[in-house]
Amino acid sequence: MALSLPAHPDPLATRLHTSGLLHELTYGLGGPFHYLLPERFDTNLAAFRSALAGARVEGRVYYAKKANKAGVFIDRCATAGAGVDVASLGEVREALGRGVRGEDLVVTGPAKADALLRVAAQQGALVAVDALDELNRVLTLGGPRPPRVLLRVHPPAQPNSRFGLSPVDLDEAMHDCAEAGDHVRMEGFSFHLSGYDTQQRTDLAGDLVELCLKARVLGLQADRISIGGGFAVDYVPADAWKTFLERHQPGDYHAGKTFTAADFYPYHSPVAGADALAAVLAASPYGAGPALSERLREAGVMLLLEPGRALLDEAGASVFTVQGVKDRDGYGIVTVDGTSLSLSEQWFNSEYLPDPQLLSARPLPADHASYRACVAGASCLDSDLLTWRKIAFPAQPAIGDLLVYPNTAGYQMDSNESSFHELPLPPKVVIDHPDDTGRPRWRLDR
Ligand SMILES: *Cc1c(COP(=O)(O)O)cnc(C)c1O
Repeated sequence: MALSLPAHPDPLATRLHTSGLLHELTYGLGGPFHYLLPERFDTNLAAFRSALAGARVEGRVYYAKKANKAGVFIDRCATAGAGVDVASLGEVREALGRGVRGEDLVVTGPAKADALLRVAAQQGALVAVDALDELNRVLTLGGPRPPRVLLRVHPPAQPNSRFGLSPVDLDEAMHDCAEAGDHVRMEGFSFHLSGYDTQQRTDLAGDLVELCLKARVLGLQADRISIGGGFAVDYVPADAWKTFLERHQPGDYHAGKTFTAADFYPYHSPVAGADALAAVLAASPYGAGPALSERLREAGVMLLLEPGRALLDEAGASVFTVQGVKDRDGYGIVTVDGTSLSLSEQWFNSEYLPDPQLLSARPLPADHASYRACVAGASCLDSDLLTWRKIAFPAQPAIGDLLVYPNTAGYQMDSNESSFHELPLPPKVVIDHPDDTGRPRWRLDR
């Protein structure tokens, strides 16, 4: 029995897949490509904003740009007046160039280069300071206006994290800011946690509200906190995910490959996206006293958040063409016209698990039967597999058929892409639905 992990049904994607446009684009572009659905980004952003409004919390959403390099999502931020979380000069340039205002940027990342700190200050961007030496460099920048900073806190619940200031350093940083007086605007504190636990976020946010009150005693502004990203995306239904985790074994993968279940992204999450933000706000820090939303209101603290993956939920997919099918003992090896570099999960000892969908160029024969196959890349590396798992396709894939990996806009598309073997990088195609005819139109992301 093959274990299937079908992505949640997506009517918009289904309409696109049955429109014939993807085969047309494959023909026109002559290779693999990613498609993007920016209207989904708008919907996800609106959902986060309404979770803030629903909890009566003043807040701001900053899109974590590292999750996808496409320009169109930054265009959407500029249009909607949303912020962008950037970590390099290149990302700053891209955001400013597409109309995001400097004051709507938050600069994160460790040990930021002087050039990045200088541009951030000149543009009025908020800088999440990660270390004392970095703060020192910020304070000695000199420049036309005082730099705006948040102090990033080392998360006690994740002691091995390399990010953030320890309690001792934090204390020193606050005093350094107080001493700097008008030469710095210390606006508050930040964190970013790995994992998706909402209570951990509530707890630490509660601590940061207390820190704001403490900092104000020193004369600092301290009126906002950033709780970073890490709002889960729910890719597959609960029952399929549960069955998969219970039953998957080496025989389900090509070459008997083994994966550690803990290394898999949690592809099912009962509470995800904007609902996870609502849960963070509704809970009480450490399970006692008023809800976080109420603490924020009482203390006059604004809530900033930096979702990446969750803003890109259902905002794109990756399309490959079948180039060959090799029959092995009991299963097939389907080789496509791209590499696993375009599906980044493979490079973290893990695998992107939502099933790729077979879009056949021909009608399936009446007697078609399920066919199990893994999916390999068109490179000369034995380990270049897009999917080690033997997927149960509805029929044996044939040359020219398309495989569509669903919901890949969050982190899968481009973080590890390279033109290995001189293969061109897959272009990104923006799909617009400009009128109510439902007719999809396309353009290249620039
Ligand atoms: C990566 C990152 C994010 C975004 O995380 P997601 O899991 O994509 O929501 C936000 N803030 C910081 C500081 C990050 O490093």
